[in-house]
Amino acid sequence: MTEPAPPTGRLAPSPTGLLHLGHARSFLLAWWQVRAAGGRCLLRLEDLDRSRVRPGMAQACLRDLEWLGLDWDGPVVVQSEGLAHLRGALDALLAAGALYPCVCTRREIREAASAPHDEGGAAPYPGTCRDRFASLDQARAHSGGRAALRLRVAPGPVPFTDGVLGPQAMDVAAEVGDFPVAGPDGLVAYQLAVVVDDARSGIDTVLRADDLLGSTARQLLLQRALGLPSPRWFHVPLVCGPDGARLAKRADDLSLAALRAGGVDPREVVAWAARSAGLPCPEPLAAAELIGVFDLSALPAGPVSIDPAAWDRSPA
Ligand SMILES: [Zn+2]
Repeated sequence: MTEPAPPTGRLAPSPTGLLHLGHARSFLLAWWQVRAAGGRCLLRLEDLDRSRVRPGMAQACLRDLEWLGLDWDGPVVVQSEGLAHLRGALDALLAAGALYPCVCTRREIREAASAPHDEGGAAPYPGTCRDRFASLDQARAHSGGRAALRLRVAPGPVPFTDGVLGPQAMDVAAEVGDFPVAGPDGLVAYQLAVVVDDARSGIDTVLRADDLLGSTARQLLLQRALGLPSPRWFHVPLVCGPDGARLAKRADDLSLAALRAGGVDPREVVAWAARSAGLPCPEPLAAAELIGVFDLSALPAGPVSIDPAAWDRSPA
């Protein structure tokens, strides 16, 4: 038997806000997983959505990751610098007939969805523009220049295996419908950018928080349509506040920058993340000191609750 090749994983922060303890835990787990297997870990800044990127946050993300004791192989991959590759993928999908232009507004999509849907949850796209235009140019002429591009999604469940959660399936056609891979402004959608950038970097192992579980089947469909391999996915439970709600990026009290400013030792953050993942960590340790004890099978199921008061270093 040949040994499996060492994995290639990635840390992929978005420079849209401060990283907090929840991000720290996901990034530590992702880093431990590939380092424990002797693999490579890349760093990618997901800055494609320029409207959400905040000045200085890219540098802040790198500083936070270094403070945690994480390192990465090779230069930082900046998503917005790979636009030519994203355009190339769009062109390939268009040439294969996998996409069609859509000129619907959000309101039209909402009104066309006949079935009532959950408050806040988006209705699946009803397929209004499927086979409506002969070409992208025709769609643009119809709409006055703007047209999104959607992937044709075949009906039926899309099964995949998650390394933490086991066998999964999502009926993308029923739950999401034909989904956009480029917006009306031409901006490539998150799902396609992730797929193209992972493939380009040879990423074969993706450990991330389970709020992205719902994206996985869409990414798998895009990988198939582009003839790309799928990575092994590992979705870990989110970190929640004491109210049970997920920590948002605006949870600035629990941002790594605030903890650092408050004098918290990064090894305390590492120890908390390790213990919350079921790893033995009797004392504060550097991230690298836990590579040898990493064991994803020790990960408890269910979200991790965090008490902000436990991290408050302000004088009483
Ligand atoms: Zn449409």
